[in-house]
Amino acid sequence: MQVLKFGGTSVGSPERMRRVGELIDDGLPKIVVLSAVSGTTNKLVELSELIRKQQIEVASIKLAALREEYRLFVAELLPTSPFQEKGQAIVKGIFDETEQLLWLNRFESRHEKWILAQGEVISTQLFQLYLEYKERPSALISALDFMRIDEHGEPDLDWIQQRLDLLLSQQHPLATYFITQGYICRNASDEVDNLQRGGSDYSATLIGAAIRATEIQIWTDIDGIHNNDPRIVENTWPIRQVSYREAAELAYFGAKILHPTCVIPAEDRQVPIVLKNTFEPQAHGTLISSASSNRTITAIAAKDGITAIKIQSGRMLHAYGFLRRVFEVFEQYRTPIDMITTSEVSVSLTIDSDNHLPEIIRALEVFGEVSVDKDQSIICIVGDALSAHTEVTKHIFTALESIPLRMVSYGGSSNNISILVSRDAKNAALRSLHKHLFQNTNTTLSVNF
Ligand code: ASP
Ligand code: MG
Repeated sequence: MQVLKFGGTSVGSPERMRRVGELIDDGLPKIVVLSAVSGTTNKLVELSELIRKQQIEVASIKLAALREEYRLFVAELLPTSPFQEKGQAIVKGIFDETEQLLWLNRFESRHEKWILAQGEVISTQLFQLYLEYKERPSALISALDFMRIDEHGEPDLDWIQQRLDLLLSQQHPLATYFITQGYICRNASDEVDNLQRGGSDYSATLIGAAIRATEIQIWTDIDGIHNNDPRIVENTWPIRQVSYREAAELAYFGAKILHPTCVIPAEDRQVPIVLKNTFEPQAHGTLISSASSNRTITAIAAKDGITAIKIQSGRMLHAYGFLRRVFEVFEQYRTPIDMITTSEVSVSLTIDSDNHLPEIIRALEVFGEVSVDKDQSIICIVGDALSAHTEVTKHIFTALESIPLRMVSYGGSSNNISILVSRDAKNAALRSLHKHLFQNTNTTLSVNF
């Protein structure tokens, strides 16, 4: 069985939803995971913030506007009776229930999460109704009946597997297409919760891993992972094949196409992921599997909003346990570290969240002098066995010869070389690297794409 996930833009209008209906309809059994219609989750976030701030009047106007959007959506998607009426009843039910939350005395986080879940609830219900209207053998299975996170927010794969096996085998013997929601789940207290923004990819790979799918297809609006950021660099191209490791590095470092955590479950169970373009289904896309890309350099990606922190201290000389104490500060403030480089008397590291920066700096000042550089970007060069090719570094440094480098991390993994530059220098760095690593015919690096 396959798992196919369609993102918000792929179901962003009635016309696009109909396209998805055609794309999945090859008669083969599959699970179809949908995001909310694009824009809806943002609107639901905004709505819950208004309710939390007790701005009920504005909230109620926004809610009415969203209700109207869906009324029109249904009118276009399901033009005839009785499907039109059924679709409008779905919209009415969900919006009436949401409206009741406006008037609660105490609006709690569980109410907020319930609201955030409604985008996926509504898109899947309407899509499944559309398949009924088209007389396609389908069934809706609620993610709330099988997708679960534990008390640490981690998905419980055994539970997901058991529940899915049961739901698929027992309840819908005649269905070929199973429709379910991405993003939403239940937590350890059995409340409605979610897998964080953009989490529908993660839902899809968890489902794919749980049922040991033959393949997980993630359908978005671009044709796979590109070898550099197409918004900044000209003449990028989609990569046909990468390993799980390379894909995870790229997803984390800014190739926005895939949610970073979602590679893990697929890799654990060796289920291939294929990234496809809804608007160009014929395009090859990118295959992510355990097979190595066999390419020295696969792609370049960048991540903005990075803060670099340097701690300089004579106490580091010949000391042990120093780094542990530095890391404990970040642990205490639950702030992950992305890059790290050290010298004998100082250590530089980067974080991508400034939420606890003042407390972190205060705690680090106990060890020595602390300096902070904000607005940095990590540029990450990803490939297969990078360090085995000695000429790689020469080309990288030549490409970046006129750009000040704040940090360089080499050798942490054979798939990744990371370089920290100021945000202002990022575009120039990406373009120059592209030229030197992919377009320079004198180099032996850019092998068959
Ligand atoms: N609808 C959710 C979001 O916008 C989840 C997703 O699209 O993956 O974040
Ligand atoms: Mg998305």
